[in-house]
Amino acid sequence: MSSLSRSRNNTFSSLEIERDADWRSDTAVINRRLHGDAVRFLLLRSDGRALIGTDGHSLRGLQHDDFVRFGGTENAVSYLGQARDQDWFVWRAEDAVCADIAAQAGGEFLDLRAVGMLLQAFDAGLFAYARALAHWQERTRYCSVCASPLRLESAGHRAKCTNPHCGSEHFPRTDPAMIVVVSCGDACLLGRQASWPKGRYSALAGFIEPGETLEAAVQREVHEEAGVRVVDCDYHSSQPWPFPASIMLGFLARADDPTIKLGPELEDARWFTAQQIIDGLASGELLMPSPLSVSYRLVEHWLREAAGVELDTLTLDDPMRKPRSR
Ligand SMILES: [Zn+2]
Repeated sequence: MSSLSRSRNNTFSSLEIERDADWRSDTAVINRRLHGDAVRFLLLRSDGRALIGTDGHSLRGLQHDDFVRFGGTENAVSYLGQARDQDWFVWRAEDAVCADIAAQAGGEFLDLRAVGMLLQAFDAGLFAYARALAHWQERTRYCSVCASPLRLESAGHRAKCTNPHCGSEHFPRTDPAMIVVVSCGDACLLGRQASWPKGRYSALAGFIEPGETLEAAVQREVHEEAGVRVVDCDYHSSQPWPFPASIMLGFLARADDPTIKLGPELEDARWFTAQQIIDGLASGELLMPSPLSVSYRLVEHWLREAAGVELDTLTLDDPMRKPRSR
């Protein structure tokens, strides 16, 4: 299986949408789509929650009539792209308007983390995309060069400095973070933070620093957090992670020496054999990372390779694991 297939298997990662980056700066075309029959609005509240349909498995996509009826304005929307013959926009309405819409049109505002596993794959990906774009817009209101106000352009995908002597352009940013399952002999390395629920262990993770390759970040983070020297690593898959603005880059790595020297970030890190994972999950003493995350997919991959066991068959009782529909 290639990384393309592995990435698509991650939550938020199978969004097939034509983003139309070539022409989304064309205001006339965007406005035609905004007021066309095929328009659909993903409604986002200021806290990043989206309007979810009463079935709980899909976004409550609003139509043009709703947009007009509830006083939507062109300034409040950004173009996401075209998919399934629909033109999707994210609509960041005032919270009071959001409450009115939910009351009249039906649905509930839910957080992406809470609803990510329940949504259909396309809807989960679209919600993640909209949330990331909206977060950037919310936090990018003044020029980082001259501190003048910014004006959104290109259907919400570019912010231009309003100071004519500056004119800097700013673009949505995504912070890369790596996440890794390290193996040594017949065991894999997982760690836990003190704030997590008792028994939950996950892959080690951290942000990429300036001037650093992904592989160097894997080596540095594993050493900082667990004192283990990674001697080899390979890319596994990626996942948009808009909490608030990251992309997770999953790796599988190898160490020759299992000696652990715990750093300040983790409460514990330890090596787990496949049997220890199987037994720990069966007894309830061990909990896996959320299946929402690539961390779960990395452990799943390792366990499958190491013992031919499917992690999904071991985590059926985990309350964080819910059936995922496509
Ligand atoms: Zn400026």
